[in-house]
Amino acid sequence: MPTKVAVVTGSNKGIGLAIVKALRKQFQGDVYLTARDVCRGRAALESLASEGIKANFYQLDINDLQSIKTAASYFTDKYGGVDVLINNAGIAFKVADTAPFGVQAEETLKTNYFATRDMLTHFLPIIKDGGRVVNVSSFVSVRALNQCSSALQERFRSEDITEEELSGLMQTFIKEAQTGQHKQGGWPDTAYGVSKTGLTVLSMILARCLSKERPKDGILLSACCPGLVGTDMAGPKAPKSPAEGAETPVYLALLPPGATEPHGKFVSDKKVQTW
Ligand code: NDP
Repeated sequence: MPTKVAVVTGSNKGIGLAIVKALRKQFQGDVYLTARDVCRGRAALESLASEGIKANFYQLDINDLQSIKTAASYFTDKYGGVDVLINNAGIAFKVADTAPFGVQAEETLKTNYFATRDMLTHFLPIIKDGGRVVNVSSFVSVRALNQCSSALQERFRSEDITEEELSGLMQTFIKEAQTGQHKQGGWPDTAYGVSKTGLTVLSMILARCLSKERPKDGILLSACCPGLVGTDMAGPKAPKSPAEGAETPVYLALLPPGATEPHGKFVSDKKVQTW
């Protein structure tokens, strides 16, 4: 049996690091802690080692297309593909940040939507039969959806929206945010929320594509919310620990062989949520 492999993006700290820890205990195979910064990645690896947890490391900056392609080649050459991919890397501007909304919109969607989409473009073809793909979205994706105009909500809930249409809508949001017209365009006043709405919808689209294009391969792909977790992103007052935040992503990553759901859903607290 070839060695199985799990890859977690943005896992040098926070929820990603907690996911690596949990997978090391529960996943039968190699687990890759990946980080855009080699020093931060290696420091995280050493902190795990000091707890007696041994993980593998690979440098991966999801905002760098070449970095994504090089990583995909590495996992193909070494493992013949990937068994578990958790797209956890994400950013959020602090509430107090004074950067103009248009800048926040562009930067936030660049990582949370477009770079995660690039990961999926280059890694989905190498996901092995029976593989699991988990996109760490957020409950704010639902809140932002409900704050969109009814026309946008209709598209984001439709079964026929394509990746091209969705990416076009995400670009429109950025353009309208830059000219201060996003509210007239039917968008809410949250760049992070829209980026995560985009990621949840993208997950649903790609799950439908997998069902159509690889119906016998048994791959499951969903988006999830980790809950409100005390990390550098959400701050120390958030109620869940990183280990608790890892539970739902890890549950989806370890759905047993032969499972047929959840697939193409938004999952929180290990339960499928209404979209
Ligand atoms: P943190 O800010 O603690 O960690 C984010 C991680 O993503 C860091 O390792 C960061 O690396 C990495 N990252 C950012 N950009 C890139 C990139 N271009 N390439 C590779 N890695 C990158 O956040 P959390 O752990 O709280 O969040 C993890 C995920 O969970 C995010 O997607 C977030 O949106 C989501 N989430 C979090 C919630 C919470 O309450 N914390 C609630 C709902 C969703 P670096 O250290 O180099 O910056």
